[in-house]
Amino acid sequence: MKIIAVGRNYINHAKELHNPVPEKPVIFLKPDTAVLKDNKDFYYPDFSKDVHYEVEVVLRIANEGKHVSKKFAHRYYDAIGLGIDFTARDIQNQHKEKRLPWELAKAFDHSAVISPLIAKEEFEDIQNLSFSLQKNGETVQKGNTKDVIFSFDDLIVFISQYITLRKGDLIYTGTPEGVGPVQIGDKLEGFLQEKQMFTCYVK
Ligand code: MG
Repeated sequence: MKIIAVGRNYINHAKELHNPVPEKPVIFLKPDTAVLKDNKDFYYPDFSKDVHYEVEVVLRIANEGKHVSKKFAHRYYDAIGLGIDFTARDIQNQHKEKRLPWELAKAFDHSAVISPLIAKEEFEDIQNLSFSLQKNGETVQKGNTKDVIFSFDDLIVFISQYITLRKGDLIYTGTPEGVGPVQIGDKLEGFLQEKQMFTCYVK
């Protein structure tokens, strides 16, 4: 499986990092070695001094798809989860300045926390899902999928023009504002529609 992640999909997050609001989705990949599941601990990597949390709603791809049309896009994901796109912000900023790719800042081991996935039928309206992240018991990020720039269906259409979607792939759909650093000892907890989805200790 692969992880396809979307950058700058919430206007207020694009603004907080002083990025322009994109006309097309900003896409990057994480390999399967990035997955961190079952509430496992995250070990702070040696190569960064500024790892940030980014809480994101995650889609699970249900079928192989290439050049998917908007009308059928909803058939290509069957479950929703919540995750963290851990980002080495210092490395990302250095690479952005030099116009280099972001992989070392985004694709490193265990940089993709993922909760258990829930069948999308269990949600009343996936275009109106509230989610949040708590750090040490305090809410640091709050979002709602109604505020995305590119809808889930738009993302499926766009990505599948370039990259074949396969059953079991995950799409991280972007983070709302409020991203910030983690430190060793922090406890991160993700909530989707008030339901606790994951706990992750930074070690
Ligand atoms: Mg992100």
